[in-house]
Amino acid sequence: MSKTYQGLVAVVTGGSSGIGLATTRRLLEEGARVAICARTEETLTKVTTDLSQEFGEQNIMANALSVLDEAAMNDFANKVQTTFGRCDLLVNNAGQGLVSTFANTTDEKWRAEFELKMFSQIYPVRAFQNMLAEANGSIVAVNSLLAYQPEPHMVCTSSARAGVQNLLKSLSVELAPAIRVNSILIGLVDSAQWQRRFEAREDQSQSRAAWYAALASQKKIPLQRLGLPEEAAEAILFLGSRKAGYITGAQLEVSGGLSRYI
Ligand code: NDP
Repeated sequence: MSKTYQGLVAVVTGGSSGIGLATTRRLLEEGARVAICARTEETLTKVTTDLSQEFGEQNIMANALSVLDEAAMNDFANKVQTTFGRCDLLVNNAGQGLVSTFANTTDEKWRAEFELKMFSQIYPVRAFQNMLAEANGSIVAVNSLLAYQPEPHMVCTSSARAGVQNLLKSLSVELAPAIRVNSILIGLVDSAQWQRRFEAREDQSQSRAAWYAALASQKKIPLQRLGLPEEAAEAILFLGSRKAGYITGAQLEVSGGLSRYI
């Protein structure tokens, strides 16, 4: 059977962990060559060494950078052009959430959070736009359900996420018909972020399984569990592929049914 991404090139920001890593692996399995970036060189080196052994070193490249560094992002795009010669899919995934209420979010935190959420879209899109247009490619952003269903304990992240959804809608019009722009809306997906929160749990005697089960129950997730990074990856691969050729400006929830809006 032919592979969905055979002969194509994908870029995944934050490709060294969680959803980004699962997406990178699935893209490689589907025949893509993949370029990833993240800030921590050590993790990137480990991940690329492992993936090279499995999929061949000619199929994976990595660059240590922050998506908030525009010059580094442009340099990364140039390296992708030189090494792989094209870009068919950009997955804007890098980032993390901020737990804070209105009362305890300082101006600095507001600015940093809005900068992260908006410029982690803006800089990669600017850097890869020409290559994506040439390939008639697409962008998939990893966003959060918080964009539509804000949580008071994540007030800053929720409002920044809503801004991102608005930006993506505009981009889907401005970049059409050459580039499709879609997003997935994550509820709770088991990844490094949740692992860190589990490690910092109040009751250190609570097992991992019990902590995750209590979290799913407390959040009232209809499917009664957190999602797997691989489940988010499948949605990204679909939206990014030619199978979704008539879909742009859309969002797909990967939340186990967590949303309460219609
Ligand atoms: P992980 O923490 O497992 O992975 C995050 C990745 O992003 C890492 O590779 C990290 O590497 C990279 N990263 C973070 N900041 C930057 C930066 N400034 N520049 C470049 N790379 C960066 O998280 P997830 O897989 O859970 O998260 C993926 C995306 O999904 C994030 O945007 C997150 O906010 C979003 N999301 C996740 C949810 C969940 O429940 N998991 C819920 C809602 C949204 P490094 O630290 O080395 O830079």
